[in-house]
Amino acid sequence: MVSRVRVIFGRGVVPELFRTAFHSYKKGTIADRARLEIKITRVKFRCLRCGKEIKTRDISSPDFSHSCPFCGSKEVELQSGRDLYLEKLELET
Ligand SMILES: [Zn+2]
Repeated sequence: MVSRVRVIFGRGVVPELFRTAFHSYKKGTIADRARLEIKITRVKFRCLRCGKEIKTRDISSPDFSHSCPFCGSKEVELQSGRDLYLEKLELET
């Protein structure tokens, strides 16, 4: 049986939606009694105008989403943090 599942999210995933889906899909599977842990990863942007890097954990903040906090430019590029991956799976024997 799976006892614990840890996933890492960046931007673009709503943790509560994932949690709800996880708990409804796990029923009757080997993960039936698994606990779900969610970690939010840092999201990294780069400003195309001033070149500064913007890192944030607050995925709901409007500050970084489309503008640079240093120069105010709206030309920012997402560098990393769009991922969703499974970090850890604990099994009970
Ligand atoms: Zn900038």
